[in-house]
Amino acid sequence: MSFHAVVVAAGSGSRAGGPKQWRLLAGKPVARWSVEALLDAGAEAVAVVIPAGAEAEAEAALAGLPRWFPVRGGAQRAHSVRNGLDALADRAPEKVLVHDAARPLLTRRVVEALVKALDEADGALPALPVADTLKRAADGQVTGTAARDGLYRAQTPQAFRFKALVEAHAAWTGAEDPTDDAQAIEAAGGRVVLTPGDPRLMKLTYPEDFEMAEALAGQVRELRVGQGLDAHRFGPGDGVWLCGVKIASDLMLIGHSDADAGLHALTDAVLGAIGEGDIGDHFPPTDPKWKGASSDRFLEHAVGLVRARGGRLVNVDVTLVCERPKIKPHREAMRARLAEIMGLPLDAVSVKATTLEKMGFTGREEGLAAQAVAMVELPRS
Ligand code: MG
Repeated sequence: MSFHAVVVAAGSGSRAGGPKQWRLLAGKPVARWSVEALLDAGAEAVAVVIPAGAEAEAEAALAGLPRWFPVRGGAQRAHSVRNGLDALADRAPEKVLVHDAARPLLTRRVVEALVKALDEADGALPALPVADTLKRAADGQVTGTAARDGLYRAQTPQAFRFKALVEAHAAWTGAEDPTDDAQAIEAAGGRVVLTPGDPRLMKLTYPEDFEMAEALAGQVRELRVGQGLDAHRFGPGDGVWLCGVKIASDLMLIGHSDADAGLHALTDAVLGAIGEGDIGDHFPPTDPKWKGASSDRFLEHAVGLVRARGGRLVNVDVTLVCERPKIKPHREAMRARLAEIMGLPLDAVSVKATTLEKMGFTGREEGLAAQAVAMVELPRS
């Protein structure tokens, strides 16, 4: 499934009381929900259209996500969409999805149906039949009942053959901008079909809509947890690598790679959270390629697998078990290095240390051990 996407996040949000695209919904910026969902569904690139001067907010909201770039918005939505399409033009995409960031609870199923529908149409949009009776009223008094047969509520993303949409926008001659992109295609005589909409794909318009969306958010994303354990033996050396930091010592840890047990336990925890086996499956110790390798690469790889699924790490917690070296003087450097490798804020990264009161192999100082847990958020399958 190959497609590109434009996410319009250029609104000032006057009705929602301030720009809503950067507000947190269930702990995550509104715009991030959509971009993650599109990446999860396989978007090759996502042009995110943002207001002038909002580059820092966008970078913060979408930190760590691959394959997206910011585009400056226009005065009206249609103008913003055209800027997004222009920014994708040199990639010559065949199919493009145009989505409003104000509809954060997007699922892969909706995207897949849209992309497939384009095999037989110029455009496709998710829609829900109108279930409520429609009343016409003036001054609070009913003046009539409208027939609802054949009426649908249009949602986004809307999907188009890229060339058809660019040409339809260029050919639009209406006095007002089209209400949505499908209208431009309709006016140009193109064929637009409906795909099943999703009630969770509600639009955040008013402040109270956030409450409803918060309640629905757990149906779209899920939390996973993984744990990892590793141990390595000491030998004579010039320093011990732990959690990406080299601690000067007359010891070293013995292993095929740099034997950083902290990074190995954490890598296994991340892989465990997404059911991706263990570090040995991805970096076999029999492969000479990994001899003496710096273990930050293993963790980066695991974090990359999470991101490739449209997921993100939420937090990690590492416990180092040893009599020596003393961990405390190096703990903050370790946290900072792990946060850097994983693209996490510092308060989402914990490193702790304990001894086992001189008992067992760590007590005899034969080696050290590390254990880790990682929490990951993924699109619900
Ligand atoms: Mg190991």
